[in-house]
Amino acid sequence: MENISRIKEKCVGCKSCEQSCPKHCISMLENKEGFWYPSVDEKSCIECKVCLKKCPVENTEFHRNEPHKVWAWRNKNDVDIMRSASGGAADSAAKTILQMGGVVYGAAYDEQLAVSHIEVTDEAEREKLQSSKYVQSDPKDSYAKVKQRLSEGKTVLFTGTPCQIAGLYAFLGGNPENLYTVDLICHGVPSPKFFKKYLEYQNKQTAGRVIYFNFRSKDKRGWGTQYLLKTKTKTKTKTKTKTLSLDRYGKHFMDGDCYRESCY
Ligand SMILES: Cc1cc2nc3c(=O)[nH]c(=O)nc-3n(C[C@H](O)[C@H](O)[C@H](O)COP(=O)(O)OP(=O)(O)OC[C@H]3O[C@@H](n4cnc5c(N)ncnc54)[C@H](O)[C@@H]3O)c2cc1C
Repeated sequence: MENISRIKEKCVGCKSCEQSCPKHCISMLENKEGFWYPSVDEKSCIECKVCLKKCPVENTEFHRNEPHKVWAWRNKNDVDIMRSASGGAADSAAKTILQMGGVVYGAAYDEQLAVSHIEVTDEAEREKLQSSKYVQSDPKDSYAKVKQRLSEGKTVLFTGTPCQIAGLYAFLGGNPENLYTVDLICHGVPSPKFFKKYLEYQNKQTAGRVIYFNFRSKDKRGWGTQYLLKTKTKTKTKTKTKTLSLDRYGKHFMDGDCYRESCY
């Protein structure tokens, strides 16, 4: 059938198709490695091809390969710099949009440390988006929410990987005036399953439960690529910092041998 099933391993997992199907017959299912791919209920599919029209892989006009202008900046606030992965540029963009009364979308951990895109509308929540989460963030229904917010006249900032940004533009079918996007330089994403298994491994190592994880902590050793995790045992909370590339998850991430197929 003529639908998103034909994209196969080129799929970037942005979920634009799932969010745009008028018959709601697309589900995103995990493969063996833990990356989600579209699965179409062929009995309900009417071959309207909306899923293909909204797919950033099919529609390369939504790829923004040529910069119109280039700015470089660094956050001036020391507290924000410490919480950010690098120079806190993404965070200062978020701060500006919130101060304008806008809405910001970005990647955040939930209580189980799974990463997904959330909507942030006030200053207190901004911190959740700071720092890099080196795992594919689940976009969930964030594109549909962005569309809704734009229709309400809100200014929106969406931050994410380049394929998530391309997915958003494909989903919206253009470049709305009140939409700002920040895409990270990204060499690839590991799967949420891989990260989950790694956290289980850390639980075993520490005989506790990981309650906090930061891939790019500046707390103990300043700028660089040190992760920091906190585990809770029955009696105490422990903190551990290590160079990312010297640890099993970080090594595979840095070596680039655990990414989604489309990243290659
Ligand atoms: C998977 C991944 C791979 C990367 N690869 C490279 C690289 O090869 N080279 C390089 O120079 N930089 C890379 N980066 C970018 C780098 O780690 C920093 O995120 C970037 O420099 C922004 O820093 P900042 O201080 O401005 O961001 P902060 O102010 O700390 O804000 C972090 C921003 O990143 C977004 N974000 C965090 N995790 C994710 C995620 N999993 N998916 C989508 N958005 C996310 C948040 O929404 C937020 O807007 C990568 C980031 C990610 C998430």
